[in-house]
Amino acid sequence: MENRLAQTHFELDDEYGHIEVNQEAVREAGIGDALINVCPANVYSRMANGDIDAEYAACLECGSCRQITPEGTLTWHYPRGGFGVRFLQG
Ligand code: SF4
Repeated sequence: MENRLAQTHFELDDEYGHIEVNQEAVREAGIGDALINVCPANVYSRMANGDIDAEYAACLECGSCRQITPEGTLTWHYPRGGFGVRFLQG
């Protein structure tokens, strides 16, 4: 996985985070650990207060987190045009 991640390039959008975590809904659904474990890019982590942090800049746009989260727990949009991940070949 490390080698594959090294073959990616990110155009960071400082003004728009494309992932927002609804902390209360995630807590109620008990899916914090699942979010942390499902993401291949380690976007999600647990903060000292127990909330889930989303470091959107590393997102590979694979959609896995969207598949496991109940409605209302996560707001996820593709990055704005020209931003986000770019997969390099060879
Ligand atoms: Fe992680 Fe994929 Fe969700 Fe991006 S879309 S945060 S890479 S699981």
